[in-house]
Amino acid sequence: MKKKSILEKLAEGPVLGDGGYLLELEKRGRVRAGPFTPEVALDHPESLLELHREFRDAGAEVLQSLTFYASRDKLATVGMGDRVAELNRAAVRLAKQAAGDKCLVAGNLSLTWMYEPSNKKSDDRVRKTFDEQLDVQTSEGVDFIIGETFSWLGEALLCVERAKRTGLPVMVTVCFENEDVTPDGKKAGDVAKALADAGADIVGINCLRGPEHTLPLMAQMRKSVKGYIGCQPVAYRTPHDHRDFTSLPAFPDQLDPYQLTRREMGEYAMKAREMGVNYIGACCGAVASHIREMARVLGKVSADDRVWNKGGDKPMSAYEYYGHDKAKAQS
Ligand SMILES: [Zn+2]
Repeated sequence: MKKKSILEKLAEGPVLGDGGYLLELEKRGRVRAGPFTPEVALDHPESLLELHREFRDAGAEVLQSLTFYASRDKLATVGMGDRVAELNRAAVRLAKQAAGDKCLVAGNLSLTWMYEPSNKKSDDRVRKTFDEQLDVQTSEGVDFIIGETFSWLGEALLCVERAKRTGLPVMVTVCFENEDVTPDGKKAGDVAKALADAGADIVGINCLRGPEHTLPLMAQMRKSVKGYIGCQPVAYRTPHDHRDFTSLPAFPDQLDPYQLTRREMGEYAMKAREMGVNYIGACCGAVASHIREMARVLGKVSADDRVWNKGGDKPMSAYEYYGHDKAKAQS
């Protein structure tokens, strides 16, 4: 059976995305903290495949190919500049293998670190960088394109331009650092409008901030565009003066105490849906348990109906012994 396209699915209601790959694979010893390049697709494909499967089984409806930072210049920083095609191909194949007919697969582009405003030469270099990845990803057969984590609206617009040329649906999301404007001075509402006017099918925000500091900006986007909006925050709790989790001194290897609980990510998913967010996913720090809870509150997975006979003569679990059941029923 032919899979429904992302646009057909969004027309029916909110779509659940996946979680973060690089930070989690770093914790598993498969990605190097610092460069955060995705050579895991070549070095430890089984680890990436497994994480894709975890998100799929948790209820994600889209798997993103781990081609974030799989651009020529970024890979050159770890001595892999000549393996762009090979890496992008491997990453898309792994996402497709895990997806089967259960999930859509999104190709993925990310910030290049090469964009310079008002420099036409840098524009062309960014275009070429996107095109090189897009050629491989589309030839492997992705369902749509996600461009993400752009601080500069200018770079995000270049991504829309190149991704649109594939003829596939396009989602482009920006990130906000510690200020509520982009480095090119744009507020969330202006960003959403500019991206939608450029032809992006889904616009929004991903990465850097947790739900608390992302949702208010999503509300601005909801006001300014009628089309689909998407939200993929990180699963970290950050103070107001370090809204961008990568600006925390704890980044990247002491973030554990900042990680949100699955219930908090479930609450985020509910709020996003109430706000009219169409594509609800997550980014760095979000693991399968977060996605599973988000899937549950969004009604994407059925309740656990495995047999469990509680309430006998004696408690047979700590759950019953401490009365967690009753406390939940009362709350
Ligand atoms: Zn992220």
